[in-house]
Amino acid sequence: MPSALLAPVTAASARWTDGFWGGIHARTRDVTIPQIWGSLADPQVSQGLENFLIATGEKKGVHLGPPFMDGDLYKWMEAAIDSLETHPDPELADRIEYLAGLIAQVQREDGYVHTPTKISEVNGDEVTALADRFNFETYNLGHLITAGVRHYEVTGSESLLDTAKGAARFLAHLANDKPLELARSAICPSHYMAVMDLYRVTRDRHYLELAQAFLRVRDDFEEGGDDNQDRLAVRDQVVVAGHAVRANYLYAGLADLVLETGDAELQAVLERLWNDVNDTKLYLTGGCGALYDGASPYGHQWQGEISRIHQAYGYAYQLPNTTAHAESCANIGMIFWSERMLALTGDAKYADVIERIAYNVLLASIGLDGGTYFYTNAMRQVRELPFALRRPGDTGQLDVPAPPPSDERLRQDFMSCFCCPPNIARALASFHTRVASTSHEGLFVHQYGGSEIDVSVADARLALRESSDYPWDGRIAFTVTAASGSLPVHLRIPGWSEGATLTVNGETVAVTEPGSYAPIEREWAVGDEIVLDLPMPARVVRGHRLAEELTGQVAVQRGPIVYAVESMDLPADVRLEQVALRRGVAFEPVEIEIENSRMIALDTEATVLPLSGSDGLYEDLEQDELRAAPVRLIPYYAWGNRGAGEMSVWLPVVW
Ligand SMILES: [Zn+2]
Repeated sequence: MPSALLAPVTAASARWTDGFWGGIHARTRDVTIPQIWGSLADPQVSQGLENFLIATGEKKGVHLGPPFMDGDLYKWMEAAIDSLETHPDPELADRIEYLAGLIAQVQREDGYVHTPTKISEVNGDEVTALADRFNFETYNLGHLITAGVRHYEVTGSESLLDTAKGAARFLAHLANDKPLELARSAICPSHYMAVMDLYRVTRDRHYLELAQAFLRVRDDFEEGGDDNQDRLAVRDQVVVAGHAVRANYLYAGLADLVLETGDAELQAVLERLWNDVNDTKLYLTGGCGALYDGASPYGHQWQGEISRIHQAYGYAYQLPNTTAHAESCANIGMIFWSERMLALTGDAKYADVIERIAYNVLLASIGLDGGTYFYTNAMRQVRELPFALRRPGDTGQLDVPAPPPSDERLRQDFMSCFCCPPNIARALASFHTRVASTSHEGLFVHQYGGSEIDVSVADARLALRESSDYPWDGRIAFTVTAASGSLPVHLRIPGWSEGATLTVNGETVAVTEPGSYAPIEREWAVGDEIVLDLPMPARVVRGHRLAEELTGQVAVQRGPIVYAVESMDLPADVRLEQVALRRGVAFEPVEIEIENSRMIALDTEATVLPLSGSDGLYEDLEQDELRAAPVRLIPYYAWGNRGAGEMSVWLPVVW
């Protein structure tokens, strides 16, 4: 990547072997990946696999499931391939080869692969490819290409890579001969990142030019709207709007392009858009895309310009809590976008956001059991909500069961709209690639939580083993396990931290400002010990004055972990809406277990507000005395693992 300041590491150079992320990595391998395969391969649950068997003629039937389910199978394959890289498993490797063979059979001569179309053909129906943008063909092809590249990188097999090249050939045909169809169908655009993956592994410039053609076709599209980020040419975009998965995938793919081309103008656009999300639209937990449904541009004077948006970024500071959408795929897309911006700029703020997402909304989107998933990620859950919030699989038709009561919305082991679970699996199965980067200036360590790193730059090599109880304790120790030369080490001082200290073999080293990398330059020897100490008091945070839904409320954070209160941790006579925090109140860290998972909770004394005396929309405030009650806050990511109930991240503050 010629324009990268920082080069990402692969599994050969960084792993989670221990500690917090070592545990998550093992859970992903042992529980999540097999569990998702169980859902995709069992026709009683889904036709993820079955659709391919019908498309090849091996079985009879019709296509069932959403049109993007092929892509979800490819994403699962990518997660499994990531797992093969860190944990060889011949049976799993054989299954991936078998699937690669099936996919190749479904592929048309021109490279197009899409089981709904193929099955219709097999059944003698009249079908047209790319007839409907909601067929998600480019999304599926993009994920196929990325899985093919990963398969080749990890196993050396070219079976899926060949199919991937065919898929790219079809996309090139669209870009050149059918740009309108391509522009219309380019939703949830995984194919930008995908062809750049293919370019990096083949160094065939046609793929780089193809990514440039995608951008050109999009910018020339005249029928677009904000929901798909194609109302304006990308370079004219000032704020991020519309479907949050589509936005984050698009900008991540364009950042890939800049990493190769060094297009400074496009980089400036991406920095401006990323800052817009980070400064005005990102939930405290790292969630992206606040709205279930809305309109954009919001309040525009020309109504003809306004388009419907869904699963979307709202306007600046619009961050509803109960109705937070924050689709799991959108949050993962923000990790993809941020890691590419980090590679481009070396700015620690991008690693800070990856940390914010990873420890909070990403881990919340999967149960502590490793096999249940959220599609949306609420910031607050309340009883008796007088309207139903859409869940994946809730079709809105009258003959389907009503959604569960609002305080019983919990993770599901399967959802008919299955984009999120395999995305969560691949994000977690490859999370070690976000541990660190290298540059000619040395090693940059971004994420903490149980890694082993072994990198070489020019003639220098450095291997480190991290020992820490992060994120529960801020003492992070690295032991040098191999060294030659004097590779400088740069450790991220998180933006949230204050009073960090750093020592090497007990000698103090200067620490840089929060939100930067502290450099350590010396001749390393095996056994050297680096200790970064990040004090972790519980911190009370509040939102921007324009964030109306956060007005008069605070949230609690300790280290990178955002906390929440759940109704099962309240005294029997206290309701969720009564819980307030007094300014200056103390928080006591206590070790607890939920679902056999160890974590640090925070015990404190809540101020109990008077219960509302009526069901009216408004009522006079009684002058009741406030009382106190003990409450326990738990990490947000662990909410919803003890049965149904209410939950809130933000709580009223009493001065
Ligand atoms: Zn999703």
